[in-house]
Amino acid sequence: MKLPPAPLVRRFQRRLLAWYATHGRDLPWRRTRHPYRVLVSEIMLQQTQVDRVIPKYRQFLRRYPTIHDLARARVEDVRRLWYPLGYNIRPVRLHTIARETVARYGGHLPDDAAALRRLPGIGRYTAGAVLSFAYDRDAAVLDTNVRRVLGRVFLGPRRLARVRGERVFWDLAEALLPRGRGYDFNQALMDFGATWCTPRKPKCPSCPMKGFCATVASLSAPGVPCRS
Ligand code: SF4
Repeated sequence: MKLPPAPLVRRFQRRLLAWYATHGRDLPWRRTRHPYRVLVSEIMLQQTQVDRVIPKYRQFLRRYPTIHDLARARVEDVRRLWYPLGYNIRPVRLHTIARETVARYGGHLPDDAAALRRLPGIGRYTAGAVLSFAYDRDAAVLDTNVRRVLGRVFLGPRRLARVRGERVFWDLAEALLPRGRGYDFNQALMDFGATWCTPRKPKCPSCPMKGFCATVASLSAPGVPCRS
C-alpha cells in the first residue's frame, strides 16, 4: 500500500498530539515507566475495558509490587486475584513471564522486541507497548482502536473492504510515528480511538481530522457516523 505523503503525516501527527494534550486520559499506568507495571497494565487491558482494569491493576500491584514477588507467588493465587477480569490464561502467562524474566534476565524485562516476543503471551502489540511505554522507544502499537482510526482516516470504507490481514495497518502505524514522540503519539492514538473515533458514535462534526479523513470524504453527508 502507498503510504500517506509526508505533509499529511505531519498534519495528522500535529493534530493528534494537540488533541491528546486536551483530551488525553489520566490513567494510573501512565504515571509510571516501570517495565513490570507497564506489562501488567498491558496484559490486563487485553480483552478488558479500562474502567474495569483500573481497580484490579491497583489491587494486583499492592499484592505483587515487583516482578520478583509475582515470580515467587503460587499461580493459583495469581489466578484467584485476577478472576474478575476473566480470560484466565492471561494471569498464567503473566506469571510465567515473571518467572522466565527472573530466571533469564535477573528480573529485568528485555528492551528489545525479539527477546520480548520469546516470552509467553507477548506478541507484536505488547512488545511494542512495553518498548514504547517503558523504554521510550519509537515502537509502533496496533490494537483495535488504533486499527479503526488508521483505517478510517487513511483508507476509508472502500479500501478498507479490500484489506486482508494486519500488514497495512502495521505499515501505517510505523510510518506515522513521530520520531522521539512515540510514547505520547501511541497513547494519543489509543485514546482517540477509545473515546473519540469510537466504533458506533465517532465525533466527526467536531473532529480535528475531518478535513482529511478518508471516511468522512467518502460519505455523501459529511459527519454521518461511520461503522467501519
Ligand atoms: S472524522 Fe470521524 S471517522 Fe474520521 S477520524 Fe474523526 S471521528 Fe473518526
